[in-house]
Amino acid sequence: RPAPGAILSVEDLTVSFDGFRAVDGLSLRVARDELRVIIGPNGAGKTTLLDIICGKTRPSSGRVMFQGRDLVRMVEFDIVRAGVGRKFQTPSVYEDLTVRENFEISLPNAHGVIRSLRFRRTAEIHGRIQAMAEQVFLAERLAEKAGRLSHGQKQWLEIGMLLMQNPQLLLLDEPVAGMSPREREQTAELLARISRGKSVVVIEHDMDFVKRIAHKVTVLHQGRLLSEGTVAEVQADPRVLDVYLGH
Ligand code: ADP
Repeated sequence: RPAPGAILSVEDLTVSFDGFRAVDGLSLRVARDELRVIIGPNGAGKTTLLDIICGKTRPSSGRVMFQGRDLVRMVEFDIVRAGVGRKFQTPSVYEDLTVRENFEISLPNAHGVIRSLRFRRTAEIHGRIQAMAEQVFLAERLAEKAGRLSHGQKQWLEIGMLLMQNPQLLLLDEPVAGMSPREREQTAELLARISRGKSVVVIEHDMDFVKRIAHKVTVLHQGRLLSEGTVAEVQADPRVLDVYLGH
């Protein structure tokens, strides 16, 4: 029974790999319009959690309720269509296509199947791509091959490609890894804009960036929820200090 306003409700989730519990009885809720950051030491289960939400990994037990449906029972493709977008740490764009073509092929059609590019060059699509390119700071690069973009620009392109499908929940794995300070600043602005109207869950290590973007932070440790609250609250939590300073 998700709380009013909760778009995502992870309930008593456990996943074991050869008997080792990478995620161990984890429950958490993410509200609409919330930007939640997941932190925790290496091996805490952060990536595994996102893998379960997007259907890449099957849990041993528990539920992942998203807008009234249990994602654990759905395959990856249907989870995407239900409105969940996942971005992995390494940017994955089509390097030999232009930025514009990358946006074009990420547009879903009525059947959720990619159509041939030449049917897509209508004014409406042109406008949507232009608006998205502006949103992700690539308006000047539309004609450029994606392979020629900087690492940070590829990250933005991939976020833009996910947004073309209008997901209600966006899962991002270390979106600013390898970015310059200026690109980080722009990414913080972008994420703030995205989270007005969508929910965003971000795995992030850089605490300066976490402070800049997080509405709320969840701290994982050994597959369990160690602490949750505002950045100030979790930073003052003795259990969090123990885990981070004790290592
Ligand atoms: P984090 O993202 O917080 O660094 P992960 O979710 O990647 O942590 O990993 C949590 C634990 O689960 C780690 O000990 C990792 O080695 C283990 N693990 C993750 N995926 C697998 C897998 N497919 N098979 C076996 N062990 C795994």
